Amino acid sequence: MAKTALITGIRGQDGAYLAQLLLDKGYNVVGADRRSGGANYWRLKELGIYKDIKLEYMDLLELTNIIRSIEKIKPDEIYNLAAQSFVPTSFEQPMLTSEINAIGVLRLLEGIRQVNPSTKFYQASTSELFGRAHEIPQKETTPFHPRSPYGAAKLFGHWITVNYRESYRMFACSGILFNHESPLRGMEFITRKLAYAVASIHFGLQDKVVVGNLEAKRDWGFAKEYVEGMWKMLQLKEPDDFVLATGQTHSVREFIEAAFRVVGVHLVWEGSAMNTVGRCKKTGKTRVVVSPDFYRPAEVDLLLGSPLKAKEKLGWKPRVGFEQLVDMMVEADLKRLKKEI
Ligand code: NDP
Ligand code: GDP
Repeated sequence: MAKTALITGIRGQDGAYLAQLLLDKGYNVVGADRRSGGANYWRLKELGIYKDIKLEYMDLLELTNIIRSIEKIKPDEIYNLAAQSFVPTSFEQPMLTSEINAIGVLRLLEGIRQVNPSTKFYQASTSELFGRAHEIPQKETTPFHPRSPYGAAKLFGHWITVNYRESYRMFACSGILFNHESPLRGMEFITRKLAYAVASIHFGLQDKVVVGNLEAKRDWGFAKEYVEGMWKMLQLKEPDDFVLATGQTHSVREFIEAAFRVVGVHLVWEGSAMNTVGRCKKTGKTRVVVSPDFYRPAEVDLLLGSPLKAKEKLGWKPRVGFEQLVDMMVEADLKRLKKEI
């Protein structure tokens, strides 16, 4: 009989790719969707799977709703991808972020425990747990040191998942995923913000892009590959926690340079720190401006993950490299904008 998976955060980047993967594997996929005004299913539509998914209204803020949904759907696997996922918003809304990203995880685990403790559970943990990183590269045993309310709330989500596994023998896994991007990434994140800006600048729709800290480094991978790792974790004999990462790191500055190169623009930099500008080498036009508006109260300077354990125990490894990822994202936005104009 086909398995049933319940995915929270179905309207997000990972929710869409995971739904596609599980449908391909023959699962019944139910998307937990909070009722919100102007609900937008563009990602599911872009992947052509909107009609193949059942939607269930379920909000991580409401335990009774979670319990009823689990009773009704009877999922074999639950993937908790829902979150307030943007770090800067977590500084503005630390309580709401914690309600969703920390207590929301507990509500789900408690729902599973009460309704059917044999339901398998995946928790979307994050490299933001490492924050001010204690070692390079970061792996499953690296101490955590979150640098934002987002990271601190996810830390609770991570440990409560471990705790329910150890206390109640639940099949609960936590995937410590490093940044993963795609053409379906939210516009507020730096990679998609840049892909879209470069495409807009290329078509003359905007002059420049305003960004924050150029020196932060991230281990950026391709989201579609990362959701495969989530599924693999839930197919193990014993539940465990895994880092998913590429093992390579690049700065925001390098991402910007690579994104502009896709449209044939070579940047030269002038100034330093918050007074930096990036100009087109050929025309001299200013294309990048740094503003304190996009700096954070506390920064995560360097993330670089080791996917070694995932390689050995899950047989998971990333294939899409940095340049290919940047290229894919800029090309996708060029294509989208070309259709619109
Ligand atoms: P997105 O921001 O694209 O998606 C998050 C989803 O969570 C949205 O669909 C949102 O719904 C939903 N959501 C928010 N609050 C609630 C709530 N109270 N109840 C129910 N649903 C809610 O994130 P990604 O797909 O990029 O990431 C998936 C998960 O992985 C997140 O938990 C994120 O924190 C984590 N993660 C992501 C990484 C990345 O690089 N992408 C790295 C490491 C971890 P709505 O559409 O209504 O806003
Ligand atoms: P995060 O790693 O989950 O916080 O993902 P983001 O894509 O939001 O940010 C990645 C890094 O880019 C962080 O170190 C940010 O400080 C840095 N950054 C620099 N400029 C910007 C910007 O304009 N927007 C965003 N979102 N991040 C920026």
